[in-house]
Amino acid sequence: MKMLCPQCGSALPPEAVNIATDLAQCPECGRLNQASACIVEDEVSQNVLRRPPPGTWLRQEADAIVIGVTMRSRAAWFHIPFTVAWSGGSLYGIYGTQIINGSFNLILSLFGIPFLLGTIFLIKTAIYMLFGRQEWHLDEDGGTVFNGVGRFSKHWRFAWKDLTRIYIHTSRSDEDEDEINFKLILEGTSPKVEVILPKHEDRRQFIICALRYYHQQWQRRK
Ligand SMILES: [Zn+2]
Repeated sequence: MKMLCPQCGSALPPEAVNIATDLAQCPECGRLNQASACIVEDEVSQNVLRRPPPGTWLRQEADAIVIGVTMRSRAAWFHIPFTVAWSGGSLYGIYGTQIINGSFNLILSLFGIPFLLGTIFLIKTAIYMLFGRQEWHLDEDGGTVFNGVGRFSKHWRFAWKDLTRIYIHTSRSDEDEDEINFKLILEGTSPKVEVILPKHEDRRQFIICALRYYHQQWQRRK
């Protein structure tokens, strides 16, 4: 049975774990965790991989294993009405009235440019919240992660041989104090791979389990 700190990904030595109280203190980062949450057995990962939770997928392609997760977010329920109200209101007030009156106002039109840019940003975010996905294409040498919408995905490539540690970094969101962001970090890779994970716990665990599992497989092969 192997145990890893879920906060920083370090291996936990037996003396760091107290089974009776179900607590484990990480010697690396000092944080306390539920001992049961630190267990990473191959079987655990394999079970998750055999039955990917809703919103995730795993498929074998000719030369790669593809694991993916939808980045659809419940925040869309708030974000989309907000975009419609904010963009609709400001653009109507600035440009709509000019069109209706058939008179061009240069100052007002220039004044509206930040609102146009804001609208583009809000719409891009809305599309990501509805259709965003993250896919990892894992092959013998490493993997490529795609994050985004269709052809507009950003992607990063990494090699298994550079990878030293896989862990989640949690931080408070800048916009909302109560919101927590989960960032997956592949340490040792260059440029360093850092991607935001879904808020949904099952989906997040699926990605992490799958990556650790295939990394282990690679270590065994070499
Ligand atoms: Zn730790």
